[in-house]
Amino acid sequence: MIKFENVNKYFDQHKALKSLSFELPEHETTVIVGPSGSGKSTLLRSFNLLEQPEEGLYSLDDKVIDFAQPISEKTILEVRRQTGMVFQDYNLFPHLTVLKNVMEGPLHVLKEQKLIAAQRAEELLELVGLSDRANYYPNQLSGGQQQRVAIARAMAMNPKYLLFDEPTSALDPELEAEVLKVLLKLDVEKNSMVIVTHNMAFAKAVASNIIFLEEGNILFNGSPDEFFNHPTERIQKFLSAMT
Ligand code: ATP
Ligand code: MG
Repeated sequence: MIKFENVNKYFDQHKALKSLSFELPEHETTVIVGPSGSGKSTLLRSFNLLEQPEEGLYSLDDKVIDFAQPISEKTILEVRRQTGMVFQDYNLFPHLTVLKNVMEGPLHVLKEQKLIAAQRAEELLELVGLSDRANYYPNQLSGGQQQRVAIARAMAMNPKYLLFDEPTSALDPELEAEVLKVLLKLDVEKNSMVIVTHNMAFAKAVASNIIFLEEGNILFNGSPDEFFNHPTERIQKFLSAMT
C-alpha cells in the first residue's frame, strides 16, 4: 500500500501539495487527473522520491518515511526498487538495442544471470507486442514502440508499483491507442499501478480508483463510477473542458 499522511511539498514559496492524506491499496489501478499545474507529476514523483516533500509521513507497505527527516540513500534505493517509473518521453538508452534496454536493470542492478534476464526480456517484449524489434535501436522505432519498450523495461525490474506520468502525451492518437492497449493488458494481480493521464476515456476504462487534484488539493478520491457518472459541479466543469 502507498499511504500519505499530511504531506506538504513546497517549491520555494509555492505550495505544490497541500496536506495530502490518502491510501492506495495494492493490486489496484489509481488514475490521477486534474488541471495543468495541479500537482499530478509532483505527487507521482514523490512516490519514488524523485521529489521529496518537506513534511508528512509516507508509508510504502511496511516502510515508513518521515519527510521531515533526512532520507538515507539506502531508503531511496529501496523505494525506487519497489516503484518503477515510466516517463512521458521514454528515456531509453540510445546506444543499446531494445532487448539490451530491457535487460539493463536486471543485469546491473538486480545482478540477474544473463540468460535469465534475456529470457524475461523476451517475454516482456512479447507482452508489449515487440518481439520482432528486439535487435533494433531506439531511434529505429516509432514513439509508441519506444514507449512500449519503456514499459517493458520498467516491468523487468519487477516493481510492486508501476508509475506512469502521462505515458502517451507525446504520441499521436493512433500510437497512443497502441500504448493504452498494452497498459490495459497489464496484470494488476502482479502490479499496482498509478497513472497520470489527460485521457478520460482511458481513465474510465482502466481505473479502479480516481484522484482529482486541483491546486495541490485532493478534491476527489473515489470510484470511477462516482467520478464520471455523479460528478460534483467542479468535476463536471473539468470533464466538459476535457472533451
Ligand atoms: P501538467 O498537467 O501540466 O503536467 P501537473 O499537474 O503535473 O501539470 P506539476 O508539474 O506537479 O503539475 O506542478 C505543480 C506545481 O508545482 C506547478 O505550479 C509548477 O509550476 C510547480 N513546480 C513543479 N515542479 C517545479 C520545480 N522543479 N520548481 C518550481 N516549481 C515547480
Ligand atoms: Mg505533469
